[in-house]
Amino acid sequence: MRKVRRFWTPSLWASWKPFGVGEQRPNAYREMWRAVRENRSRLGYAWRILTHGVCDGCALGTKGIRDWTIDGVHLCAVRLRLLRLNTQPELNPAILGDIGPLEAKTSADLRSLGRLAWPFIRRRGEKGFQRVSWEEALEAIAQAIRSTDPVRTGYDLTSRGIGNEIYYAAQKAVRAMGTNSIDNAARVCHSPSTVALKQAVGAAATTCSYKDWIGTDLIVFVGSNVANNQPVAMKYLHYAKKAGTRVAVVNTYREPGMERYWVPSNVESALFGTRIADRFFLVHTGGDVPFFQGVLKHLAERGLVDREFIDRHTTGFEDVENGLIKLSWAELEQLSGASRQEMEALAQMIAEARRAVFVWSMGVTQHAFGEDNVRAIINLALAKGFVGREGCGLMPIRGHSGVQGGAEMGAYASVFPGGGPINPQTAEALSRLWGFEVPSKPGMTAPEMIDAAFEGKLDVLVSVGGNFLEVLPEPAYVRAALARVPVRVHMDVVLSSQMLLDGDTVILLPAATRYEVPGGITETSTERRVIFSPEIPGPRAGEARSEWEVLLEIAQRVRPHLAAQLHFEGTPAIRAEIARAVPYYDGIQRLEREGDQFQYGGAHLCEGGKFSTADGKAHFSFVPLRGGALRSNVFLMSTRRGKQFNSMVQEATDPLTGAARSSVLISRQDAERLSLKEGDRVRVQSDQGEMEGRIWIAPIKPGNVQTHWPESAALLDRTRRSPQAGIPDYNAVVRLEKLN
Ligand code: SF4
Repeated sequence: MRKVRRFWTPSLWASWKPFGVGEQRPNAYREMWRAVRENRSRLGYAWRILTHGVCDGCALGTKGIRDWTIDGVHLCAVRLRLLRLNTQPELNPAILGDIGPLEAKTSADLRSLGRLAWPFIRRRGEKGFQRVSWEEALEAIAQAIRSTDPVRTGYDLTSRGIGNEIYYAAQKAVRAMGTNSIDNAARVCHSPSTVALKQAVGAAATTCSYKDWIGTDLIVFVGSNVANNQPVAMKYLHYAKKAGTRVAVVNTYREPGMERYWVPSNVESALFGTRIADRFFLVHTGGDVPFFQGVLKHLAERGLVDREFIDRHTTGFEDVENGLIKLSWAELEQLSGASRQEMEALAQMIAEARRAVFVWSMGVTQHAFGEDNVRAIINLALAKGFVGREGCGLMPIRGHSGVQGGAEMGAYASVFPGGGPINPQTAEALSRLWGFEVPSKPGMTAPEMIDAAFEGKLDVLVSVGGNFLEVLPEPAYVRAALARVPVRVHMDVVLSSQMLLDGDTVILLPAATRYEVPGGITETSTERRVIFSPEIPGPRAGEARSEWEVLLEIAQRVRPHLAAQLHFEGTPAIRAEIARAVPYYDGIQRLEREGDQFQYGGAHLCEGGKFSTADGKAHFSFVPLRGGALRSNVFLMSTRRGKQFNSMVQEATDPLTGAARSSVLISRQDAERLSLKEGDRVRVQSDQGEMEGRIWIAPIKPGNVQTHWPESAALLDRTRRSPQAGIPDYNAVVRLEKLN
C-alpha cells in the first residue's frame, strides 16, 4: 500500500485562499458553535455523549470522537446536528391535546418540541392525544394484535440510533406473534446490495475496511456522495490522496463535495482544502449498467482482466464476456450517456491499478433494477480480482448508524437472523433455538405493508422511529394508506408527522435513545465492526423505555405462554443469544465496556479468493442492458440529499452546493435550450405528480435533472420497485414547464 506523505502537498490543495474564503462549502466551525448553543442547557451531557458514545449518525462508526482508521478527531456536522435529539428536555404533554396546531408544523419543528416522554393515545374523532399509562397503552396494543390474524400486522424499524439488541429482540418478538412482517430502513437503502453481494460473493456486507482506502491505487465512487452523508470519510480520502490514491467518481452530477473538500480537523486541508476526484464520469440517471458494461467490455477485449483470478476463483465470466461482445458501443453510449472514450478512460484507470476499492450508495441501489446496478459493479471488481486482499474491496457504504445490523439481526421481512433465507427448514432450526414455532414464509416488506394498509388488509402497524410519510414515494398514497390502519403504534424519541394522521386508534410510545439504554447497546458499522456504545449518565426523558423491552412485553402479552422464551434480563443477555443465533457475531457476548469492539470476518472477507458461496467461488452474472436513454422533451430525474440526515431535513440550503430545497438542478445546456435562467420558477411533472421548483444551473449530465428528496417524492411511482429486494425507485421521467 502507498504511504501517506507527511509533508504538505500543495499539488492537492483545492484553493490557495486560506480556509476557502468565498468558496461554497460547509462551515464546520459555525456548526460547532451552533451545537454548543443548541445543547447549552445540557452541555455536560452532550459532551459525554460525544466523547463516550458511538455516533448515532451514519454507519462509519466511532468510539467517542475517535475511530479505528485514522489518528485524530472523528467528528462531523451530521453528528452535531443530531445531538439535540438526545439532549433536549421533554415536550410539554399539553401540546398533544390538540393536533390542529401541530399539523401546520414542519417535521423539523415537531422534532424541536422536545422528547416524547410518555405514552399517549388518540381515538378516532378526538382532537388530540391523551396521556396514558404504559399498562394501558401496551394492553391496547396487545388486544389489537390478539384480535386479528398475524398476517394482518406489520412492524417497521428505522435505524437512527437503534442497536443490534433492539433489532434482535424486536424480530424475535414479532416472530413469536406469528409473522415475519418486520422490516427496517435497510429495505429502502442497500437491500439490492445485500441481494447481489450474497449471490456473487456469499457475503451481504462490505468485503473490506475503510483502511483499504488509504494507500490503495484507486477508489471508484458510484452514485455516492460521502461528502454529504458520511463526512468523516472525506478525512479518510484526504489521507488517501496524500498517499497517492486516485479517485474516480461515476455519477450524474459533478458533486462539488467530491471534487474538493476542506477537512476541518486537519490543518493543511482546513486551510487549503483537498482536491478529491481525479476524474468524474457523468452518466445518465440509471445509466450505470451500460457504463460499467462498456468499461468491462474494454477490459475484456484488451485482455486487461485478471485471468488467473477469474479461472481459479470465479464462475460465469464466459457468459459475461459473450454477452459483452454482442453489445454495440453505440448502444452503450446511448444508454449510459457517456462516450466510449470515457468508458475506456475508466477502464484504463482500473487496468493500471493493482488494487482498487469500489464504493457505492443510493444512487446505485434506489432503482427498479438496483440489484443489476450492483451486479455490474461486482462484475468489474471480480474481473480484476479486487476482493479479499489489502487495498481491495466492494463497499456498499451505509448512511444510518444501525442499518448494517438490522438485516443481520433478522429485523427483515425476507431473512432470519444471520441473513439466511426464510423457508420451512430455516424456520424449523430457529424454532428449535427459540422454543416456539417460527413462521416459515417471508413477511411483508415496508412498502408492501403500506400497500396492504391501502387495501384494508392491515389491522395493526407498529412503526419504531422513521416516518413513512417522508420516506416512501407518493406521499398522498402513503397518507391514505396509513389512515386506513385501524391501530397504529408509533414509538420514537420525538414527534413526527405520521403520528398526527387519523386512525381508529393511534398510540404513541416514548423511546429511549441509544445512550439511555441500561447495559449499553451495540451497532455494526459499514466495515462490519460491532461496536459497544455504553449507557451515558445524564438526564432521562420521563417514562421513555428502550424498544427491545417494549416489543418483547407486547409479545408476552399477546402470547403469554411464551413469556419465558421472550424474556431477557438485559442487553447483555440479548448479546449472548445473538452470539448463538448468528454465528458470525460470536464475540458480541463479550462486549461490555466503552471501546469494546470486533470486526466480524476480519479486515477482509473472501481472503485468498475463498468465497462463502455454495461452491466456494465468486459468481459473475451477465446483466441485461439497462439504461436511461433520453427521450425528447423529457428529463431523467433523480432525487438527492441536501443538508439532511436521511429524511430529516436540517437546512433550507445545502452548504455543499448552495442549492435550496426547491432547486431543480439542470445543466446549462438544457437550461439554455429551454430559455430558462437561474432562479426561474418551473413546474416539474411526472405521470404521478408535480411540484414547483426553481432552476439551479449545475454541472449535471444534460438530459437529467435532480430534485431534493423527500420534497419531490410525489413525482415518484410507488409501483416501480426492484424485483428481488423490492426497493422503491427514487427516480422518475419528468417534464419541465416554465412558470411566470
Ligand atoms: S461521519 Fe458518520 S459516524 Fe462519523 S461522526 Fe459523522 S455521522 Fe457520525
